[in-house]
Amino acid sequence: MPAMAYDELTAQTVTLLRELIRNACVNNGAPDSGGEERSAETLQRFFAGSGVRIELVEPHPGRVSLVAELPGSDPDAASLLLLGHTDVVPPGHGWTHDPFAAELIDGEVWGRGALDMLHLTAAYAVVMRALALSPVRLPGRLVFAAVADEESGGHLGAKWIVENRPELVDVDAVLGETGGIPLAVEGPEGRVVRGVTVIVGEKGMSGRRLRVTGHPRHASTPFGADNAVVTAAAAISRIAEHEALAHIDDLWPQYVAALDLPEGVRAALTDPARIDAALPQLGPIAGLAHAVTHTTYSPDIVRGGEKLNVVPQSAYVDLDIRTMPGVTPADVDAHLREALGPLLTRISIEPIGGESPATRSPLDSPLYAALAEALSAAYPGARAVPAIAPGGSDGRFFRERGIPAYGFGLFSTRWRHSDVRRLVHSVDERVDVESIGLVVHAIDRIVRRVLGPAGAAPGGR
Ligand SMILES: [Zn+2]
Repeated sequence: MPAMAYDELTAQTVTLLRELIRNACVNNGAPDSGGEERSAETLQRFFAGSGVRIELVEPHPGRVSLVAELPGSDPDAASLLLLGHTDVVPPGHGWTHDPFAAELIDGEVWGRGALDMLHLTAAYAVVMRALALSPVRLPGRLVFAAVADEESGGHLGAKWIVENRPELVDVDAVLGETGGIPLAVEGPEGRVVRGVTVIVGEKGMSGRRLRVTGHPRHASTPFGADNAVVTAAAAISRIAEHEALAHIDDLWPQYVAALDLPEGVRAALTDPARIDAALPQLGPIAGLAHAVTHTTYSPDIVRGGEKLNVVPQSAYVDLDIRTMPGVTPADVDAHLREALGPLLTRISIEPIGGESPATRSPLDSPLYAALAEALSAAYPGARAVPAIAPGGSDGRFFRERGIPAYGFGLFSTRWRHSDVRRLVHSVDERVDVESIGLVVHAIDRIVRRVLGPAGAAPGGR
């Protein structure tokens, strides 16, 4: 097929995205994985000669994060951090195309990280370089960070920088992943976008290990045995049956209002007493709807027993627990104790994986207003739909310090929320060039508005 003509910002983003994918900075959780130094080098080359100030940090060999700064003309003006990560999760098996070849096929860039979040990281870099090369200096200061280790908690990336080099990311507001899902209704002339999600917070993490004790004996005569694995199985069932009560915050009703649903279903979805029964009517987004209205308890690891002829003396169950805003570690323990009831004589509960509270950013900040303006420029009539993310991202390190951080993106109308969920961290991850174009122009618009002279109109497309 003939090559498509893309505008300059879009074309640069596609080229840079493909390079970042080919760098294959696969983070498998081990300190020696990742190799983000490759993408830091790519970006350093990309910025060469642009006048952008670059700083590299390397908390562990090969785990390089790049921080670039473009000073503003007015030291009192606002500052903004564009927060991208360069690591990706392992590709898994069964791809239609090589996950690291970054092929451009029928207007889509294929590869691990295309969605999460290399197309955004590339767009941030492209916008920053274009501004640096422009003769016009914005009043505000722009910082771009391309960090390592987001996919394993940021210990060798954003978290490390915030704790050890805070001066590098000392800003008024942060823009990062994810968001940007168009909430559309089917109209006579195709899909009409009514809202676009903007991530304004994240659930917290409060993992627990259940340690189960039993009594060993010969497994040839198991009748009446105190088997730790049997107790662990019972514990898991009790936790699954003891659902946390729904928590309808101020955000969820705004999300529901933007969905294409009959009024009766909408009413049920915002009623804590009826939401659980109504969730199946949401089809592919039921899981998301459940996650943003409940503290969730997911048993992910179970280990127990040692030998085929010995009744197990010990077992453990690790629970990934994601908390709603306001839910404390003590609330989590209380919920588990209630669920486990009589089993508590044989089970102890201990924290695992670190505690982090849910975080929220305000809806009345200049950056949020700029996000809303940019998405309605892309989709006239659409409004920003603020939402919390069920999973964690590097944005939380900033929210925890009182700095507003939002997850923003833009997708073309062909995308449904279920498509993004299906492809992120899965096989055949890819992103279309139309979405890349939407996002890079939106970022450009947002940066100019937030860092521009107060009250000035944003730069056009
Ligand atoms: Zn990501």
